[in-house]
Amino acid sequence: MQYSPRMRDLLAKGAEQITLHERAAQASAKTFGPRVFVRAVVEVSNYCRENCCYCGMRRDNHALVRARACHDEIAEILIHHRPAIVTDVNIQSGEDPVAVRTVVVPLLHTLRRETNLGLSVCLGTLDAHLYAELQAAGASVYVLKFETADTVDYGRKKAPGSLPERLDHIRWLSGQGWKVSSGFIAGLPGQSETDLLNNCSLAGELPVHGCSVSPFVPGEYTPLTSAAPGDVEATLNCMAILRLMRPGWVIPAVSALNLAQAGSGYRRGLRAGANLVTVNLTPTALQRDYILYKRNRFIMDDQRVLEAITAEDLAPSTQSLAEFYREGSANESIEQAAATAT
Ligand code: SF4
Repeated sequence: MQYSPRMRDLLAKGAEQITLHERAAQASAKTFGPRVFVRAVVEVSNYCRENCCYCGMRRDNHALVRARACHDEIAEILIHHRPAIVTDVNIQSGEDPVAVRTVVVPLLHTLRRETNLGLSVCLGTLDAHLYAELQAAGASVYVLKFETADTVDYGRKKAPGSLPERLDHIRWLSGQGWKVSSGFIAGLPGQSETDLLNNCSLAGELPVHGCSVSPFVPGEYTPLTSAAPGDVEATLNCMAILRLMRPGWVIPAVSALNLAQAGSGYRRGLRAGANLVTVNLTPTALQRDYILYKRNRFIMDDQRVLEAITAEDLAPSTQSLAEFYREGSANESIEQAAATAT
């Protein structure tokens, strides 16, 4: 019988929460074994035409030095200096079509030619032509988060465009052959527990192959800077719920978990069923003003990532995420594991 999100699981605490997370970790192990995908992220532009209330890179934040990365510098890092455990790279930026054309597309061509890295992008909603250019250049995974399943709150928080538009882009990308990963924020101001469950349910209705849950972190230079942070326990419970819903999904342990719960949040994400971790390879000069939340970000380097994986008795995957998807094993895993999940 297929699992459906339950309020009892969202609110689980103490022994009940430990059992929930163990079930989620077992569901992940049943599908993926001990392997965890390790993806590098490079942030290539902090220009953004959007104005999301929960993000420090919003266009009304004039305290940032805006910059785009240099193709050669990023290519040099990824081709010659990436850690050995990295199998994929996610190229990420604010919503900045100029960076897509001038940095991301050329970089993808270079990486496709020079490396066997799996190529993911997280660039916001773009036009069909740019999506096609990215795909032609070798990217196969598109990360596009829906942020919240509440249409009214989506507008209130000034998330990009409208929720229906965002969902249309997710469905359209999937129809074009992209492997799409989505995501939402847990604990946005005004969000109820029912809203959180609705987020999980919406994720399950979309044609995606993965979903992230990020705890809300009140960002510097944002209208929500003095709001209360999201509850890390609810965030972890949402991750476990997603894992039980979709044992074959790729679910990241986001680095914001460590901001929300210093030092241990990330490992607890792995314990709640996450199977993707991220090593940040953005050059330091660009990192400083790439502030989704705060300047003092918790940067996961390869050593921290490896320590977290091994401490949880897991192992870095030698197969790239892109290759895993290409083989179609994701779909098989989803079907097989969903049939046996309880
Ligand atoms: S969340 Fe994304 S789209 Fe919104 S302001 Fe930040 S970078 Fe821009």
